[in-house]
Amino acid sequence: MGPWMKTRQGSGDGSSGQEAFANPVAVASALCADRGVRLTRLRRLILELLWERGRPTGAYELIEALKERDSRSVGPPTVYRTLDFLITQGLVSKIESRNAYVLCAHPERSHGCVFFICGDCGASSELEDRRVEQLIAEDAADLGFRVHQRVVEVQGTCMSCVSSDDAGDRF
Ligand SMILES: [Zn+2]
Repeated sequence: MGPWMKTRQGSGDGSSGQEAFANPVAVASALCADRGVRLTRLRRLILELLWERGRPTGAYELIEALKERDSRSVGPPTVYRTLDFLITQGLVSKIESRNAYVLCAHPERSHGCVFFICGDCGASSELEDRRVEQLIAEDAADLGFRVHQRVVEVQGTCMSCVSSDDAGDRF
């Protein structure tokens, strides 16, 4: 792999071949144990649902999915609290422009990520690029600006949607 990690997540069965990586729920569980925080049942369920979907998912879709999975309703405040915990632990990222959540590709370290979000299929790719982080840090320093949060999200069309468009043109 190049200077960045390709991090498209598997869909559904979590075994979509070429980009398979360790089960992120198991990774999260190990990280939480190391940090002495609890990966409760609800926290784990939300990670599993995000993994299965493999694309940015809104809180209300998660609430619906939880209801189906568990036949128990979980209120929005609880889900938001759980998502906040997962974000704080670096396990989940929020896609601000979609108001949606996605598993973080490399939860073991903090980093400034760039998200590429496909407007056709809704997939997102997370890319760790130190150059972007560095540029923002330099610009902030020039402005005397203290950064609390960096959001870098790029909207467009992913490679597989571009190629299925091309295939469609032949017919
Ligand atoms: Zn796409």
